[in-house]
Amino acid sequence: MVYFVGAGPGDKELITVKGAGLLAEADCVIYAGSLVNPELLDYAKNGCEIHNSAKMTLEEVASIMLENEGRGQMTVRLHTGDPSVYGAIREQIDILEENGVRYEVVPGVSSFAGAAAVLGAEYTLPGVSQTVILTRIEGRTPVPERERIEELAKIRASMAVFLSSGMLAELSEKLIEGGYSEDTPAAIVYKATWPDEKIIRTTIGKLPEAGAENDISKTAIILVGDFLSGEYERSLLYNPEFSHGCRKGTGNE
Ligand code: SAH
Repeated sequence: MVYFVGAGPGDKELITVKGAGLLAEADCVIYAGSLVNPELLDYAKNGCEIHNSAKMTLEEVASIMLENEGRGQMTVRLHTGDPSVYGAIREQIDILEENGVRYEVVPGVSSFAGAAAVLGAEYTLPGVSQTVILTRIEGRTPVPERERIEELAKIRASMAVFLSSGMLAELSEKLIEGGYSEDTPAAIVYKATWPDEKIIRTTIGKLPEAGAENDISKTAIILVGDFLSGEYERSLLYNPEFSHGCRKGTGNE
């Protein structure tokens, strides 16, 4: 059996109880060493075989999983954040299915949630935005034409931009080209929830300088949108006048 486990954004306590339990049982752990906090390996039992996938190919990862399966051993494939977001799990799952190997995916706290938490921010502020776009700028991995940053920026929703901290000048330019004003608030969150986390509050126009001044080129997520500013409307859910399935409000709707 293979378990794809979300490690969370960094802090070793931000893995799920289920994920930590599986790590403790695993005969072998293959972890994404470029982004997973190695402290998470403390949950593994003595004698557990540990591989860092940072230098491995898909074929090498798969062959370890298949060998373990042949010996009746359990593998945890530990991915950063949540495995469903830029986790490259689909191609691994396909190989397991082709080989009749059972698997389960255990979700994790994605870095877009970790970054909002350390900022104390809410992406879905009433009157500001009710939509979160998770995306990346095009790098060596192509992005479909209709999903280019300048296209998504037209929506002016809250955005969490992954895998783009090495291209801040281009990101800033494309966000503005799409329709955000230069002074729209932005934040660069480097290694959210790690001990060396850095939080840089800035604006879309100043993203490149803010990144350069703080030496940011990787392991950061860029949040942009008016949800980072001070203005919003209070929620209906907790408004005394508003009725819903669990509470009768004082209003006359
Ligand atoms: N599956 C992961 C994303 C993997 S892609 C998740 O759900 O978070 C790798 C990108 O994720 C990095 O380039 C960066 O943009 C972001 N990232 C991962 N961990 C991060 C962290 N602790 N702080 C800020 N960004 C992080």
